[in-house]
Amino acid sequence: MADSVGVLLASLKAAVDIVNGLRAIDKGYGESELKMKIISLVDTLADAKLAGLKMKEELADKEQKIAQLEEFILRRGCMVRYLEAYYEDKGDGEGKGQPFCSVCCEVSKKFVHLIRDSTDRNKTTCPSCGTVYASSRCPSLR
Ligand SMILES: [Zn+2]
Repeated sequence: MADSVGVLLASLKAAVDIVNGLRAIDKGYGESELKMKIISLVDTLADAKLAGLKMKEELADKEQKIAQLEEFILRRGCMVRYLEAYYEDKGDGEGKGQPFCSVCCEVSKKFVHLIRDSTDRNKTTCPSCGTVYASSRCPSLR
């Protein structure tokens, strides 16, 4: 689909170039009505080109989001929930390592390691969404 957007943009650019060429030829004729139509056509094509560029950006964003979700789905299969956080599965259904934020995992579909508060060891915070957990509910696991 991204390729078809590229073709659309190339076609629109070619059309704008052609119309600009016609405008140059038109100088000697002084037919104001024809000139107004050409100006309108150029404006329309320019709008179409901008729309195509926006569509291309949106497509790239969606492709990135799809890749992110595919990675999440693959990784999610290797994770287990324990108390209030997610952990990597040791392979036996038990978690290991550092905890991941359950809010980010379940809502944003991304894995973000939690960080123990340096001033209050009883608090553990997600650096992405800001959720604060009781450290006892999301311990590091071996
Ligand atoms: Zn989070």
